[in-house]
Amino acid sequence: MLIKNADIDGAIRDIRIADGVVTEIGASLPNEEAVIDADGCAVIRGLTDNHIHLCAYAAARDSLHLKQLSDISDAHLRVPIDQTLRVVDYHEDLHGRLDKHALDSLAPGRIVRVQHQSGRAWVLSSAALRDAGLVHETGVLIGEEGTDIPSRADSRPDLGRASQALACVGVTRLTDATPYRSLESASLLIDAVTMGAVRQSVSFTGGPEIAASLPPAFSQGPVKIVVGDHDLPSVELLVEAVSTARAHGRNVAFHCVTTTALALIVAAMRETGPSNFAHFDRIEHAAVVPNEYVDELKRLRLVVVTQPGFVHARGDRYLRSVDPVDLPFLYRCGALIAAGISVYGSSDAPYGPVDPWLAMRTAIDRRTATGAVVGKDESVSALSALRAYVNSPQEAWRDEVGPRVGDPGDLVILGESLQGSLSHLNSVSVRATAIGGDLVFSRD
Ligand SMILES: [Zn+2]
Repeated sequence: MLIKNADIDGAIRDIRIADGVVTEIGASLPNEEAVIDADGCAVIRGLTDNHIHLCAYAAARDSLHLKQLSDISDAHLRVPIDQTLRVVDYHEDLHGRLDKHALDSLAPGRIVRVQHQSGRAWVLSSAALRDAGLVHETGVLIGEEGTDIPSRADSRPDLGRASQALACVGVTRLTDATPYRSLESASLLIDAVTMGAVRQSVSFTGGPEIAASLPPAFSQGPVKIVVGDHDLPSVELLVEAVSTARAHGRNVAFHCVTTTALALIVAAMRETGPSNFAHFDRIEHAAVVPNEYVDELKRLRLVVVTQPGFVHARGDRYLRSVDPVDLPFLYRCGALIAAGISVYGSSDAPYGPVDPWLAMRTAIDRRTATGAVVGKDESVSALSALRAYVNSPQEAWRDEVGPRVGDPGDLVILGESLQGSLSHLNSVSVRATAIGGDLVFSRD
């Protein structure tokens, strides 16, 4: 593939991609293959979603997004009874407490699986429990007991369509951050990537239990270590999990959304010392980072994989419910970058909004869905926001957003100049997306 007249970081060049790799960048390259004319518009490296849960995202696309509990009984009447009712976005503060008995009365006899907004708890109806071979008093499954709920063949989410939706907004690479505890529980993802239904290149994490197992079609991701919000692990347990990952040549990615979790992680990392691998150990979310931890993160060579989209989607709730002392430290970007910490962008979809452009805009304006501002001092420039999405902790950081010779043929052709795109950062700028040199999305 040859892309003509591409604006790469300010210079008009042609880009040749062969065998999935950028092989040549230069002025007026001769063309022997299919040509796309960028008409002087910008071509950037493909965007990376550095933290997503692909199966859950695909499932959420086909699920009922809960506004009120009566939606469940409505859906029960509308959707054929033999289909599983998947419900997402449940939160007890908004919808009241749910258990299997409540679900059984809303949708009698039906398989209903309700996922909590956090992604860390589920409520199953009696029929859903039976279907999954589980006996459970309340049907409320929290944390690990819910992570491996088997999914019925007829209710399997369509990962191919989810992959296509991501390509439409310019996402060419993913890190699936699900802490799978067995390869069996990840089989849906493994099959979809191996068979090519998912077009993006995917880094696999999995939990410490399967640190030694990396499915062949995946690139090496860090091992996901969940430092829970409720039942906190000991420092010793964290040190052991880090050591296990390192013994298998892998970095770690800590799930961290509270100051207490951050303190535990820092304590554990002080014991293990920073990784000396080429890649970095990561803090996922870093939802709260008080000032006293910033230098420590830098010293321990930890990078942050953040989700500015949460400020948009949940910011109004944060303003109501988060301790005012913590508000300036939520989903920080600016202060971390200023301290020399690499900050990478991601969605955490389906728990956060999937659109990387919305997240980039939020990283700049720090606005919630209703327009309130959270942590205005954490605002970054448009170029910094874009850099967070063209870079990945799995490779060396680069300030320029355009491709180089030797890069994978994962590119986004924009429908305007880079300056134009940076002025509004919207997915409508994405004119075409190539992955491995194949055009996987085009507006034309
Ligand atoms: Zn996540």
